[in-house]
Amino acid sequence: MNTKRVDFYSKALFEQAKSVIPGGVNSPVRAFSLVDSPPVFITKGQGSHIFDVDGNEYIDYICSWGPLILGHAHPAVEKEIQKAVSDGSSFGLSTEIEVKMAKLICEIVPSIEMVRMVNSGTEAVMSALRLARGYTKRQKIVKFQGGYHGHADALLIKAGSGVATLGLPDSPGIPNNVASDTITLPYNGMESIRHTFEQFGERIAAVIVEPVAGNMGVVPPNPGFLQGLREITEQYRSLLIFDEVMTGFRVDYHGAQSLYGVNPDITCLGKIIGGGLPVGAYGGKREIMEQIAPAGPIYQAGTLSGNPLAMSAGYKTLQLLEKIEIYDELERKAARLEEGFRQNAELTSVPLKINRVGSMLSTFFTEQEVVDYETAKSSDMQVFKKYYMSMLNLGILTAPTPYEVMFISAAHSEEDIEDTIKAHYQALSNVKNI
Ligand code: PMP
Repeated sequence: MNTKRVDFYSKALFEQAKSVIPGGVNSPVRAFSLVDSPPVFITKGQGSHIFDVDGNEYIDYICSWGPLILGHAHPAVEKEIQKAVSDGSSFGLSTEIEVKMAKLICEIVPSIEMVRMVNSGTEAVMSALRLARGYTKRQKIVKFQGGYHGHADALLIKAGSGVATLGLPDSPGIPNNVASDTITLPYNGMESIRHTFEQFGERIAAVIVEPVAGNMGVVPPNPGFLQGLREITEQYRSLLIFDEVMTGFRVDYHGAQSLYGVNPDITCLGKIIGGGLPVGAYGGKREIMEQIAPAGPIYQAGTLSGNPLAMSAGYKTLQLLEKIEIYDELERKAARLEEGFRQNAELTSVPLKINRVGSMLSTFFTEQEVVDYETAKSSDMQVFKKYYMSMLNLGILTAPTPYEVMFISAAHSEEDIEDTIKAHYQALSNVKNI
């Protein structure tokens, strides 16, 4: 593993990129702007490791922001993609693999009876909102502060992820009438939910929630929070949408809904179900899903939806994940990482809060328990920046912002985990010297 990172070629590429791509990147958090570093330009990934154009090698905990639960270039997934591409990359017509994929998702995710494939998490959520509004014939949507659900207009309000990193709570370009139908409340804040429903309940089409928040760092739901959402939405005949784009097949094979025992009306999926290729999906109760065209009147379509390469990669990934030991192993490795981080914080006396659900883990440089967006924002940014660059120079690649997650994959070895704990100790020691 490198201990001194070179970034000469990355810097040069970033300069070129900035002249032809806005901000030099095709998605904002890739810019590393918060940590004042040029972005890493990747050449390849292998298992748990990733390599950049300057010849640096890193243990990768970004894992493509979640999809790569089996690590980079998994041989069995790669084989399926190659087999599929040799028959043609897209037909825009029906294929058997789409039917197999839909059946598998319906089998695995408890609340899904029918599912429609799309091309990204954003598209899944956008379509789910249209469906909820069309089905209930209501306009208003409730979301939570620091929750990120992709960049559809209605949800780009007080959002997490890159929106939080760049400090752009409300993006320009969102029509006022769209924004005014989105109600934003604190995550885990059951009181404000009750209050909002008492006021607007009859006009609320849906509540959308990340069942484990992952776009303000990891924030688990308080006991009873998801159940409370289920009860109040049922009481007012609003729909409950779980955005499981990140948590689906990640915190449990059957999703966060199985882990917490709450069945939503609609579930949004993405990331892992594409096995590293672009994908999204939304599914739910038959009665609701049958409102989608051509079965029903609510329109939604896609030239590349159900793309055979994405379906093949995703189907293989879901099959491989069926082995329960994979999730036990992920839990064991992630728990060891958490324990090592906790010991390092004690040894170096650096205030650190660690939140973890399964193989999603976040660290916050704060004394406060992190339970919502306000407390997540108490993480000290100056400390984070110094810590981040130390880790990067020690060959550990994590998201360049505290408002994202460390993803542990099946490809991470015990040695990777121990190396990461050692680097973390070094990085915290460097932080002490600020
Ligand atoms: N929902 C959640 C919970 C997400 O984490 C993300 C992406 N990080 C999205 C939706 C949007 O997915 P995509 O980037 O594929 O549009």
